[in-house]
Amino acid sequence: MVNARVGVLGLQGGVREHAEMLGQLGAGVTHVRRPADLDGVDGLVIPGGESSTIDRLLRIFGLFEPLQQALGGGLPVFGTCAGLITLAAEIEDPAPGQGSLGVIDMTVRRNSFGRQIVSDVEKIPTAYGEVTAAFIRAPEVLEVRGDARVIARRGEAIVGVETDTALAVSFHPELTGDTTLHERFLAKVT
Ligand code: GLN
Repeated sequence: MVNARVGVLGLQGGVREHAEMLGQLGAGVTHVRRPADLDGVDGLVIPGGESSTIDRLLRIFGLFEPLQQALGGGLPVFGTCAGLITLAAEIEDPAPGQGSLGVIDMTVRRNSFGRQIVSDVEKIPTAYGEVTAAFIRAPEVLEVRGDARVIARRGEAIVGVETDTALAVSFHPELTGDTTLHERFLAKVT
């Protein structure tokens, strides 16, 4: 049992799979849909889905600023796919009006590995060993700056980035049953 309560942003996207994996690793899970849900969480997961929709819903539900404050203040966060885009400082090709939380100093490109729904599972090398990763219309990180470190690549492309408090990957480890990165995230939380 991990002595931690992790929030999973539950507005849109692959919420259940993250909650199941965190539960399997022994963490308590809170679904975050309103600012008060952030009270008492030790970390936050931002799942995949559609980043422009997540951005819009964050603003509609009044979560954008509370999240920016909490994450800026050092609340550990793990973003996958659209979650990685949501954490970026800069989106090269945003949807009209799309913004992001600016938690990780990096530039990302959405749908970088093909615009169709290309689903592909492959093993990729990471700083934490080989990880079985599902790529679904995955973003690519074009540049990291400041304290952001590259932790995974797919070929030449950067697909994983970390800071002391944030972890973000372009792919979906929660869909393949590979717990490596969730364990790494929980190590930041506890
Ligand atoms: N292409 C999506 C976006 O721009 C991300 C896809 C995903 O999360 N699987 O948000």
